[in-house]
Amino acid sequence: MLWPVLLLLGWERARIVGGQNPFLIFAFDSYPISHSLVTLIAWALLVGVLYRARTGYGTGAVVLGVCVLSHWVLDFVTHRPDLPIYPGGPPVGLGLWNSPAGTVVVEGLMYVAGVAIYLTTTRARSGGGRYGLWALLAVLVLSYVAALVSGPPPSVPAVALGGIVFGWLFVAWAARVDRRRDSAVGAACAARAGGGAGPAGPAGPAHP
Ligand SMILES: [Zn+2]
Repeated sequence: MLWPVLLLLGWERARIVGGQNPFLIFAFDSYPISHSLVTLIAWALLVGVLYRARTGYGTGAVVLGVCVLSHWVLDFVTHRPDLPIYPGGPPVGLGLWNSPAGTVVVEGLMYVAGVAIYLTTTRARSGGGRYGLWALLAVLVLSYVAALVSGPPPSVPAVALGGIVFGWLFVAWAARVDRRRDSAVGAACAARAGGGAGPAGPAGPAHP
């Protein structure tokens, strides 16, 4: 979410180098604010603290912080050595992207695992929560495939603008779907606590 904004501002730099491997069409020349391990830890803490202050929901704050930090860990697996440990520090990366087939398999499995966790811990409260989720999941897969087969983008500002527009669009859509789903974990707890057959509260802060 942050990188396209910094890219557009010129605070971070990338080049389009093209080539046969669709995962390696960019050279990430400099992105110390959005992609160094140390700044990611700081972003994770900031997001967790702000969320805790706003909602009072400590577990949710920890989960959010871990999710923010997971970005760097996942990028560490896929990127070539271009991720700095700290701004200006030594770049690292295991380079899974060097193998397009390996990348699609690993990222596909991770996507399926993430969807499975979400499906087993939430349940739809309405059609919007059920069909909206499947529509979102389908569009995410289609956009992944489209990015792989569409070739290099026209320019770096186009990449940045596309990242901002579609990044926030997907976040807003996911939030909309999530508001129409209940926490199945909350329902199980309520049942164990003798709460009867009443509907579960909304996912998140209602079930700390
Ligand atoms: Zn990244």
